[in-house]
Amino acid sequence: MGRSAIYPGSFDPVTYGHIDLIKRAAHAFDDVVVAVAESTHKNTLFNTQERVEMVKEVAGDIGNVRVESFDGLVIDYARAKKINVLIRGLRMISDFEYELQMALTNRRLDGNIETVFLMPSEGYSFLSSKLIKEVALLDADITSFVPDSVAKRLREKLGTKK
Ligand code: ADP
Repeated sequence: MGRSAIYPGSFDPVTYGHIDLIKRAAHAFDDVVVAVAESTHKNTLFNTQERVEMVKEVAGDIGNVRVESFDGLVIDYARAKKINVLIRGLRMISDFEYELQMALTNRRLDGNIETVFLMPSEGYSFLSSKLIKEVALLDADITSFVPDSVAKRLREKLGTKK
């Protein structure tokens, strides 16, 4: 049996940083499931179906990557899929505290599940979905942050031009 991993997140929307991580995970594991969270503590701009579609559009052609959505606790979803590795990204020191807390909480909830952290290419380490939405709303050119298909959806959603 191959090694599988789940990469969970909001992906609201997917960015070049996420894509960089998906590719790294696909290189390191036999199978990767990108798991788009239905219920997140964040108010998402895009609904679950749109977020899944966007990830599929930009990463669906990587052979060993699947894109799904899940509801509830990620460890319950992982258990149901019989996958015991979670991938998370570390961009900056600022991610560390929250990510460590979450990884240790998940470990307390299920000691069999390991969180593996991957670092993006330096060029993407400043990218966040939140900031991209903010600058897109102000009509900034976001084509170096997200693929064209995502930029188009952002423009449509926000009613902006660039
Ligand atoms: P969540 O709401 O679960 O934090 P996100 O979609 O914001 O969902 O992020 C999912 C994961 O991807 C997180 O571990 C986050 O740190 C990581 N991530 C987000 N943007 C980047 C990026 N530019 N480079 C590397 N990792 C990233």
